[in-house]
Amino acid sequence: MTNATHPFKALMEITARPPAVFVRGEGSFLWDDTGKRYLDFIQGWAVNCLGHSPPAVAEVLAAQAQRLITPSPAYYNDASLKLAKALVDQSCFDRVFFANSGAEANEGAIKLARKYGALHRNGAHEIITFEGGFHGRTLATMSASGKTAFAPLFEPKVSGFPKARLNDLASVKELISDKTVAVMLEPIQGEAGVWPATDQFLRELRELTRANGLLLIFDEIQTGIGRTGKLFHYEHVEIAPDIMTLGKGIGGGVPLAALLATEAVSCFEHGDQGGTFNGNPLMCAAGFAVLQQVAAPDFLKSVADAGLYLEGELKRLSVRHALGEVRGRGLLLALDLKVPIAASIVVQAFDDGVLLNAPQPNALRFMPALNVAREEIGLMIDCLDAVLIRTGAARRVA
Ligand code: PLP
Repeated sequence: MTNATHPFKALMEITARPPAVFVRGEGSFLWDDTGKRYLDFIQGWAVNCLGHSPPAVAEVLAAQAQRLITPSPAYYNDASLKLAKALVDQSCFDRVFFANSGAEANEGAIKLARKYGALHRNGAHEIITFEGGFHGRTLATMSASGKTAFAPLFEPKVSGFPKARLNDLASVKELISDKTVAVMLEPIQGEAGVWPATDQFLRELRELTRANGLLLIFDEIQTGIGRTGKLFHYEHVEIAPDIMTLGKGIGGGVPLAALLATEAVSCFEHGDQGGTFNGNPLMCAAGFAVLQQVAAPDFLKSVADAGLYLEGELKRLSVRHALGEVRGRGLLLALDLKVPIAASIVVQAFDDGVLLNAPQPNALRFMPALNVAREEIGLMIDCLDAVLIRTGAARRVA
């Protein structure tokens, strides 16, 4: 086969991918087309909250596909009503709009805030976001993101997203003007390398936004649906945002996302928002099956326990190899390597059959399935330990 006809060439080049082709997944494991098994601590970037192809999701998808796939968002369907009601019952929000990706949910949040500004705040439209933040890859969500690599791309960006610094309330205050309608942030900056907003900062931000009549938007696309040991991260802080977006884990592996808002903020009028596949019963049925499992108190406690166990094991590795801090919450953790060796560690771990993620040159991020077993954490730690020993030896030689 020539290079031009190789199947990889039929896809647009959007990222560097290892040459393996995955054909099967089960729980914490993936298999490629040569039969090699990989232990997965990325899980589709924190998407497969119940692991690969969980029976609960696979069965409900098969059953729903035979009953009703999509009647059009112009009509109600039972699966989306059921999931919307469950999300409202489990959260501090009153209304849900379903989307197909996190970026689309965030676009919806941005539009909803701007609509609110047009109706209630004299046309205020600016949304204060944060340096290092990540909200997606549509033009508006790239503009809202504070990822430095995005800065030169696809100019001109969408305007109206001044950037504050995480955990620096004064930097938020400085940006507030009569044009401001909202503040939007990830409670833990995931793509930036797992940098948590402190609970105190989040509480003060809630007070500040309330005092200034501004909306507080939580992007819980990575932190929501049990990832941090509570169903939603805002519960740790005991505050109620006005708007929240969900994605990733909500579908347990299928494309589903959601925009949630309080009644007072749910101001879309007919024609403002929509989308062909939004709220289709196939994805919503999967989302309901996921929520039923993840929202159970015992399940959330097991996530918190597994998170503490993983954190403890990573701290042990850090001491053994003289690395940096372990940060994050629940099963969204990062290990600071202090030196830019993360990409090389990811490649070596891949060769050894473990999938790890390097969001930054000097940090590894861990986002296993929420039902990851202790033995699987042990296997990953053993692999990382061996890679770090090799890397340390190589650094001493170099
Ligand atoms: N917001 C956050 C916090 C994310 O982590 C991501 C994806 O990594 C997104 C938004 C975008 O979600 P999607 O890739 O589904 O569009």
